[in-house]
Amino acid sequence: RINSQNYMEYIELVAKKIEASKDYVSELDSITGDGDHWANMNMGFQKLLESKQELVAMRLGQMFQKIGMLIMSTVGGSSGVLYGSAYLKAAKTIGDKTEMDIHLLRDVLEAELNAIMERGNAKPGYKTMIDALYPAVIRLKEAIEKGLDGHEALQELKQGAIDGMNSTKDMEAIRGRACYQANKGVGHIDPGAVTMCYQIETLVEYLC
Ligand code: ADP
Ligand code: MG
Ligand code: MG
Repeated sequence: RINSQNYMEYIELVAKKIEASKDYVSELDSITGDGDHWANMNMGFQKLLESKQELVAMRLGQMFQKIGMLIMSTVGGSSGVLYGSAYLKAAKTIGDKTEMDIHLLRDVLEAELNAIMERGNAKPGYKTMIDALYPAVIRLKEAIEKGLDGHEALQELKQGAIDGMNSTKDMEAIRGRACYQANKGVGHIDPGAVTMCYQIETLVEYLC
């Protein structure tokens, strides 16, 4: 079960993971986009760390809303708007609940997915961060429906994100800056899918 305190611990782990991925993620966005994806994401997570005291004192839904607003105002680029929208929509799904179990986690991730698809006017297969999140959510939902235990269901979530991230390598970009490139980014993993996958992997590793 996730409360505000745990969620902040998770945010700290993601911040570390992103911090350590500078060269790889920057390089991917240099090849397929404008090179700033790592800097955008890192700035956002550092901002969340700076706001730690304020965030942990909030109820979970309020915390998600604040995270959304902080990301929206700090992170430049597409990812700022997309993650900002995702957290704002997730905050509504959480409402006044103070803890998240696996069913609420599924609903929160699905709300985030829908927010990103709406805001970005994008679908799975467009070579974006959606391609890591969508299969992860689908596999978590299937695992829960099949009655797998929490641990197994979370592993499905993680594997969906990893497989989804890797699947972007051969995709032609339909959204994001890679679609302006002659080869549509084919042959390179989408940087936004990589950082999305990092967040999901970190969540699963934290919870298991
Ligand atoms: P920018 O492209 O504005 O420089 P970032 O570099 O921070 O922003 O983020 C780029 C990532 O955002 C891409 O790798 C892709 O995963 C994601 N992305 C871009 N446009 C969209 C969109 N319309 N819908 C969903 N994801 C998108
Ligand atoms: Mg960029
Ligand atoms: Mg940019």
